[in-house]
Amino acid sequence: GWLNGYVALVTGGASGIGRAVVKRFIAEGCAGVGVMVRSADQADGLVAEFGDKVVVSVGDVRSPADNVAAVEATVARFGKLDTLVGNAGVWDFFAKLERMSTEQVAESFDEIFGVNVKGYVLAASAAAAHLRASGGSMIFTLSNSAFYAGGGGPLYVASKHAGVGLIKQLAYEFAPDVRVNGVAPGGTVTPLRGPASLGKQEKRLSEIPGFEDSVANAMPLKFIAQPEDHTGHYVLLASKANSRATTAAILQSDCGWEIRPMR
Ligand code: NAD
Repeated sequence: GWLNGYVALVTGGASGIGRAVVKRFIAEGCAGVGVMVRSADQADGLVAEFGDKVVVSVGDVRSPADNVAAVEATVARFGKLDTLVGNAGVWDFFAKLERMSTEQVAESFDEIFGVNVKGYVLAASAAAAHLRASGGSMIFTLSNSAFYAGGGGPLYVASKHAGVGLIKQLAYEFAPDVRVNGVAPGGTVTPLRGPASLGKQEKRLSEIPGFEDSVANAMPLKFIAQPEDHTGHYVLLASKANSRATTAAILQSDCGWEIRPMR
């Protein structure tokens, strides 16, 4: 595999895109993968499927201590860290600014930016020294919403645009030791949830009626992606042998958002 002997840490790796990345990284030869998950019940399924190839840490990506604990658990078990995949995220279900009270805007901003932006910065901070030591790389999951309007409300879209700046500035700061890149999926069949501040913490993107068909119809490539469709990009960006000249890059894996036809 392209990742023989690598050690990775994936946040939000219990479901959706993160879980598919964990599975693919192990298939590509990773010696071990640390997985940061939100709740204890998410840990069981991972251990059942991947056994001693994973070490699972339960925590909140908004917590500095939980990020440090996940990094340290990974290094304690597998001896080093080559690849950080920041991926845990929350969507806003297209929440419009004018449909929220100003108080709700403030709360939802803190929640969405807390997970989608602060969570990535804290993971980078916690992993930095180990990645410098291994000459490793960071990969962050962004979105079509990192580049275009219309894939969420203003809070989600702004949070994913912020990820572009974060990737570029971290790539700048960490060169030449650590490459920093991103993958930007488009609409994908996952249980991506909403913010508790909008009462949507149990709502799942994959349960929106007609979501799959409407994404497929709107996209030039005419299908909606499955989590597995994005995993090769993470493998490529993680692999020193195959992308050592690539940093501050974001691979779009979105069925052609850029080239959508006029309706
Ligand atoms: P998902 O819900 O399956 O994965 C997100 C994971 O993050 C979940 O396992 C969840 O438990 C975890 N998480 C959420 N908040 C957390 C917190 N505070 N602390 C720790 N973990 C937390 O959904 P997904 O679609 O696989 O999402 C992964 C990434 O992909 C996200 O960054 C999302 O924005 C991005 N994305 C998804 C789509 C899509 O259509 N599904 C499109 C573009 C980008």
